[in-house]
Formats: sequence, C-alpha cells, structure tokens
Amino acid sequence: MKILVAGGAGFIGSHLCERLLKENHKVVCLDNLLTGSFNNIRQLQNNSNFLFIKADITKKLPPLPNIEIIFHLASPASPNENSPISYHSLAEETIKANIDGTWKLLELAKKEKARFLFASTSEIYGNPLIHPQQEDYSGNVNPLGKRAVYDESKRMGETLTCYYHRKKGVNVRIARIFNTYGPRMRIDDQRMVINFIINALKNKPIHVYGNGKQTRSLCYISDMIDGLIKLMFAPKTNGEVFNLGNPVEKSVIDYARLIKKFTQSKSKIIITHQLIEDDPERRCPDITKAKEILNWWPKISLEKGLQLSINYYKKIL
Ligand code: NAD
Repeated sequence: MKILVAGGAGFIGSHLCERLLKENHKVVCLDNLLTGSFNNIRQLQNNSNFLFIKADITKKLPPLPNIEIIFHLASPASPNENSPISYHSLAEETIKANIDGTWKLLELAKKEKARFLFASTSEIYGNPLIHPQQEDYSGNVNPLGKRAVYDESKRMGETLTCYYHRKKGVNVRIARIFNTYGPRMRIDDQRMVINFIINALKNKPIHVYGNGKQTRSLCYISDMIDGLIKLMFAPKTNGEVFNLGNPVEKSVIDYARLIKKFTQSKSKIIITHQLIEDDPERRCPDITKAKEILNWWPKISLEKGLQLSINYYKKIL
C-alpha cells in the first residue's frame, strides 16, 4: 500500500517508516525537520519504496497522489521546558501542527479516500482524577496552563478527527500514546528516560523533580510501532480511540535507580522537591480495549527496553 507518514523523520515516525518498508509498503515520509532529523531516516534513502519530502503540514501540501493510508505523527512532543524542541519552546508550531496540520491531512484523507490515524497523547487526560485512564474518561486539563498549547491542541486534533469521521465519512482512528522511549529520542529532548540515561552515562547528577514518588509507565518503541500498525489495519477501529502504552507503573525515583544500576553509573540521584506546573502525579493507561480489539499489549520488559536504549546511547555519546 502507499502510506504517508507525516512526522516520519521523528523518533516514533522513523521507526514506523522502517517497519512499514520491511512489510513491503511504499512509504512517503513528510517532515519539516522541526524536531526530527534527517539522520533518523538516512538509512532508508536507498530503498526504492521510500520517499522523503521536506514539507510543513501546516502549509500548502505538495501533491500526494494515490495515498491510501495516512499516519499523522507530526508535532513537537517533549514537555520539558528546558528543551529547545519542547512544545513550550515551539508553542505556536505545536498548536498549528495539531489543528491546521490535522485539518489539512484530514482533507487529503477525504480526497484520496485514505485511512487516517491521529497520534494523540495521554496528555489529553491532563492531571487525571481516575486511575488507570480509560478511553471514555474525558480528562482533567487546565486550559490556561503552560502545557495547554499541547494538551488542548491535541484535544482539538481529536475533535477534528471525529468531525471528519461523523460528517464527511472519513475512515479514522485515534491513538492516545502514553510515554514511549527507545533509540533515536533526541539527546536534547530531556524527557525523563533520555535525561536519566544521558546523565547516568556521563556520571552527572540525575535530577528527580518533585519527591520522586510520582509514577510513570513506559512503553518501548517496538511495542508502540506494533500497536500503531495494528490500530491502522485491524477491523473495528474506524471512528475509535485507543490507549496505547504500557500499564506497568513505577515511581520516577525507581526509574532513576534502575538506570543508574544498568549503566553502572557513579551519578548521584538528587531529589529536587521542585514541582513542575501541571505535572501529573500518576498516569497509567487502561489498555483493555487494545487487548480485546487489536490483540495488542507491550511485550518488551522494562529491563530489556532500558538495556537496548542504554546500548544505543553508549554508542552515540
Ligand atoms: P518527534 O518530535 O521525534 O517527532 C515529530 C516529528 O514531526 C518530527 O520529525 C518533526 O520534525 C515533525 N514535525 C513537527 N511539526 C511538523 C510540521 N508542521 N510539518 C511537518 N513535520 C512536522 O516526536 P515523537 O516522540 O516521535 O512523537 C510523534 C507523535 O507522537 C507526536 O504527535 C506526539 O505528540 C505523539 N506522542 C509521542 C509520545 C512519546 O512518548 N514519544 C507520547 C505521546 C504522544
């Protein structure tokens, strides 16, 4: 099939392009390289089934004839304010990618009668009052807070996706992606895992914000790619929303200790007690729906996923 991956030069997108090519699809990767990198897809350039187009989904799209499938992953995704590629630093770009960009790609899906997947996020649940979060929970987002540029634009992206399904008959699905990690996350991304691994490998202090007891659940990248592909191709997904993530919860301090152990680092773990605005205390997916309808759940253990990631960053540091 001919597949468009918008945001295909990013962390998740580049792994998705790679997997789709292995499954003998034709892949058009469209990316403006705002937070992604050509290095992520360099190895795919010699594949005659792969085409990279440098373009911005919020502007006029290049001609994309006969596209049958559209994955929309194009958006900044890092929540860390200190990162130059975070959705705080790139607030306007984030809003536009998730609203204007989603609109443009949905129009393309309508024109080409293509299947469409919107990459949403667990952040649409905000600081949730229900654990674990099920898809029918509508969340607890602060629309005035700093994180709203991402959370609310993703929520609007979901609204647009549902609108095109209801009113214009487009075949759509929404993936609410929970924290995903693995090789090719940018070093300056500063999300928790990458931050801890880089500092541990450099024997620098590992800073844990808050009291460290807040929990996170992490999904290894290959599991996420399996989930996204199943969600696109499985029956009974049209017009549906699915949580994709790992339901195994651990405290942030436990992740710090585990990464320190696996890297045999001399780093000190420093608990800062500094709170981050609207940082959720807990976030954990209920993946019952994905298990039942997609026959999907994460298979890579935390230990294996961390080791694979640490090995990758050891090589590139
Ligand atoms: P990423 O920043 O590595 O990838 C995003 C890609 O989109 C980048 O290559 C970037 O250059 C591209 N892009 C951004 N704006 C664009 C535009 N206007 N036009 C064309 N390309 C554009 O991020 P990621 O971690 O791979 O995330 C991919 C998607 O998954 C995002 O939509 C993100 O919101 C979502 N998501 C990711 C996570 C996670 O843990 N990584 C969690 C929840 C949701």
